[in-house]
Amino acid sequence: MNSNMISKVQKARNYAEEKDRVTLESFSASFRGNHNIYKVSYDGGTWRCDCSSFQLRSICSHTMAMERILDGMIAAQASSEAS
Ligand SMILES: [Zn+2]
Repeated sequence: MNSNMISKVQKARNYAEEKDRVTLESFSASFRGNHNIYKVSYDGGTWRCDCSSFQLRSICSHTMAMERILDGMIAAQASSEAS
C-alpha cells in the first residue's frame, strides 16, 4: 500500500469514530423480531414498518430500536411531521 492510501485508511478510521459526520437520509432493513422478520424503512424523516403495531400507532419497537442503533445518524424528526 502506498503512503497516499495509508493516509486515506487512517482518515477513514478517524471518520468512523465521528458518527455525527454522517446523516442517513433513507434506507431499508430487515428486522428480525422474536416471531417474524419485519421490513423497516426510513425516508427523509419518515419511518415505516410492516408490523401490526406500526399500522395502529405509526411507531413500534422496531423503529424505536433502529433509532437507538443509529443513535444520532438520522435527522431529528420535525414535530410538525408527527401527525
Ligand atoms: Zn414494527
